[in-house]
Amino acid sequence: MSDSLHGKVVLVTGASSGIGEATALALSKAGARLAVGARRADRLAGLAGRAPGEVLTLDLDVADEASCRAAVAAAVEHYGALDGLVNNAGVMLSGPIAGADTSEWTTMVRTNLLGTMFTTHAALPHLLRSKGTVVQISSTSGRVASAGGGVYSATKFGVNAFSEALRQEVTAQGVRVVVVEPGFVATELTSHISDPAMRAMARRMADSMRTLRPEDVAGAVLYALAQPGHVAVNEILVRPTDQT
Ligand code: NDP
Repeated sequence: MSDSLHGKVVLVTGASSGIGEATALALSKAGARLAVGARRADRLAGLAGRAPGEVLTLDLDVADEASCRAAVAAAVEHYGALDGLVNNAGVMLSGPIAGADTSEWTTMVRTNLLGTMFTTHAALPHLLRSKGTVVQISSTSGRVASAGGGVYSATKFGVNAFSEALRQEVTAQGVRVVVVEPGFVATELTSHISDPAMRAMARRMADSMRTLRPEDVAGAVLYALAQPGHVAVNEILVRPTDQT
């Protein structure tokens, strides 16, 4: 993606709430043509109604490889090209390792890590053609692990490792790989945590600081995507000022 976002085709995963929704709206306001995917079709329809530009809504479950491939194919079929991919879909099911419900681990690995990998793999031939950009919504948890966040962190460390290898493989062909690592953002993310102690801790953390808003992260994504083609912003770490 080069000087301007106007007319560029961008696929955003997990656009039904939080960071993905804010990013999709910001991209649409900047003139991008969007494909947005998630499981909650009603929320995507609401987003499409509020966005100023064209929005193609897609049923997408990133935990399912075939669904990732179908979403990319539908976006390319509709618009004829793909200039950008924002891998944002994710879940954080925090909790200690001992005694964990390991089905939550499977969900996190399938969604955050494999989902990002599958969608990237499906999009790559098109991004190589357009000299496009992949933006991975990682996390501060992709840089530092902490108690209760072992598996979530493992998925985000994995996203960072995958992205650095990908960057080395495709940068000479003009494809840019951007990793965005937000700190605490006020979204629905923590509402899915099943461990009561971890959910309470997340609430206390949110109450203790001026958290980031989804729009703050959207701004970082747009900054990276709007750079001229010779500028690769490879990593953006953005935390609330109040977060230690
Ligand atoms: P939200 O819970 O608000 O948004 C998560 C999005 O991911 C939703 O749109 C949800 O859509 C989608 N999603 C979840 N599972 C799937 C799936 N299997 N297939 C397709 N879409 C899916 O949280 P955030 O906006 O906070 O999270 C967005 C990203 O930001 C995540 O990757 C998260 O790890 C990351 N992040 C968040 C931080 C925070 O503090 N909030 C900090 C750092 C990173 P649906 O349920 O409709 O499918």
